[in-house]
Amino acid sequence: ASARIPMVAGNWKMNFDHLEATAFVQQFAKNLKSGRFDFSKCEVALFPAFTALRSVQVLVDADNLRIRYGAQTVSVTSQGAFTGDVSADMLARLGCSYVIVGHSERRKYHPEDDANIVDQVRAVLAAGMQPILCVGESLEERRKGIELDFAVGQVHDVTRDLSDEEAERLIIAYEPVWAIGTGMVATPQSAQDAAEAFRAHLARTFNDHVAQTVRVLYGGSVTSRNAVELISEPDVDGFLIGGAALHVDELTRICMLT
Ligand code: PEP
Repeated sequence: ASARIPMVAGNWKMNFDHLEATAFVQQFAKNLKSGRFDFSKCEVALFPAFTALRSVQVLVDADNLRIRYGAQTVSVTSQGAFTGDVSADMLARLGCSYVIVGHSERRKYHPEDDANIVDQVRAVLAAGMQPILCVGESLEERRKGIELDFAVGQVHDVTRDLSDEEAERLIIAYEPVWAIGTGMVATPQSAQDAAEAFRAHLARTFNDHVAQTVRVLYGGSVTSRNAVELISEPDVDGFLIGGAALHVDELTRICMLT
């Protein structure tokens, strides 16, 4: 068995203002407590919009909750005249543990390219947090049968200049673009194949310790109905969840199953 602690990460995207976020966290904490959820066996993290992070922090601190949280993106610069941006240090000082980096929606709508994603990863690591690096093929690559090469290539492009010590702190989220928000979930075998391919790549680029330490999450239409078979795969270490993370009872169920 691996020493990696599984993780359930809920990406709220552009949903929930600070009041809704507060109500969610209160109910979620209550649910996990009454289910006797064991936080030492599974990390749980929420990714609110920037406007709700402070409210989540206050609640987590006040009630000593073991729920972690982070941001959905970050600036690549540390401070100054960058209107609209939020720095990694600002997030670290709010108690963020993680930052999602390179989500396919950010790559598509902003766009965040590899160079920018590399800089985000560096900024997150330098501020003492862990990046959750999102990669995954679109339907086009899958149809051509090059999905693994494509996703491994994305990992390679972003991580190749990291030191072993930096690489060890990465979390990779395998999120096939065609599976995000569509109800079409990858098969457990293809999630496992991708996770295995990332580990083999990390072992070649860095070392075995890095390959065995980095957690690989699966993301794309995860629900309480498909979570068990996905998490049963040896190299899948948990989930990055969009739609199902907006429903507190459903997110609770997924945590209890992971
Ligand atoms: C996501 O956007 O990271 C995601 C996995 O979304 P969903 O769970 O809704 O497919």
